[in-house]
Amino acid sequence: MYMDHSATSQVDKQVFKAMEPYFVHKFGNASTLYSLGRDARKAMENARAQVASLIGAKTEEIIFTSGGTESDNIAIKGTAYRLKDKGNHIITSAIEHPAVEETCKYLEKKGFEVTYLPVYKEGIVRVSDLEDAITDKTILITIMHANNEIGTIQPISEIGKIARENKIYFHTDAVQTIGKIPLNVEELNVDMLSISAHKVYGPKGIGALYVRKGVRLEPIIHGGGHERGIRPGTENVSGIVGLGKACELAQNNLTENAKYITNLRDKLINGVLDSVEQSYLNGHRTERLPNNVNFRFTGIEGESLVLHLDSKGIAASTGSACSSKKLEPSHVLTALGLEQVDAHGSLRLTLGKGNTEEDIDHAIESIKEVVETLRKLSPLWCAIPGAERKE
Ligand SMILES: *Cc1c(COP(=O)(O)O)cnc(C)c1O
Repeated sequence: MYMDHSATSQVDKQVFKAMEPYFVHKFGNASTLYSLGRDARKAMENARAQVASLIGAKTEEIIFTSGGTESDNIAIKGTAYRLKDKGNHIITSAIEHPAVEETCKYLEKKGFEVTYLPVYKEGIVRVSDLEDAITDKTILITIMHANNEIGTIQPISEIGKIARENKIYFHTDAVQTIGKIPLNVEELNVDMLSISAHKVYGPKGIGALYVRKGVRLEPIIHGGGHERGIRPGTENVSGIVGLGKACELAQNNLTENAKYITNLRDKLINGVLDSVEQSYLNGHRTERLPNNVNFRFTGIEGESLVLHLDSKGIAASTGSACSSKKLEPSHVLTALGLEQVDAHGSLRLTLGKGNTEEDIDHAIESIKEVVETLRKLSPLWCAIPGAERKE
């Protein structure tokens, strides 16, 4: 039972089928003039239109990259380097994906100043904090659309409006929202938006950056001028075709998938909160992705929980895939104001279109069993006043 779709997802069979010819038969370089190359170019431009259509952009506003991380880097560094004479201040949130967080930290070392907006208990930034943070040196606001760990959705449209009023570039990392909730770059008032294929049943190592017409970025890599000079390098045609197909499928099935998965999510949330004592949901109850569940259990260590669930056939995670190798608790959970020990007791389950009601029943039952077993063994749990120990 795969319940870690925010880490990655299985490539859809239709996506795989669409990609296959571009490895062997249609292997041309999209920059060449003969028909093999032209066919590759055509397939690529078709994919560009599919990506653009999903987010309400113009075809020429889509730049292919190697994934979400690269898109974030190009948007943030590209803006910072381009506008460094105008100002050196960047505003972001305290719960960004490392692709944004670490890029901002790097820029701090290079002389930029970064404000990390708090997200409070519910995991959502306040527009008033943003307004207070803006100075005449602010050149970029970068705030994620939805968080990869706790699933909370940020007020992007309002943030974008403020950015525009103040003539500040606005980038959002929408890797987690693409294909999960309806998304339109005009309604969101964004100038740049990051996309990755592998979180929406596409292949790994391919993504895109939406760059609004008129927005100028300094390239961070240099080469043969591909992708309007912003992202040079021979195009990953098969990957691009896969990304396009994944976007097309996501668009066609968006409402249906979102409704189906939201039902599973709510069943899982209610089932666990009702049957496991001292269990809590991290992040806002409703302003969250249709597929995201993030619990915390008093007196439990998240990693043990994940390993025990694995032995019951459930793939889940604690913190994000990127922070789970480190020992310190996730910066997202601590930004909610959680104590270290509580942040360590978290469990993320992210659902996908392949999950069923039976999977959810099994997950609820397994979580209940494993939490009870671990608590019986836990000195932490025994020390908690009022913690009931059932024999
Ligand atoms: C996965 C993820 C990324 C990174 O995307 P890659 O394609 O794996 O580089 C960036 N931001 C968010 C919110 C993500 O969930």
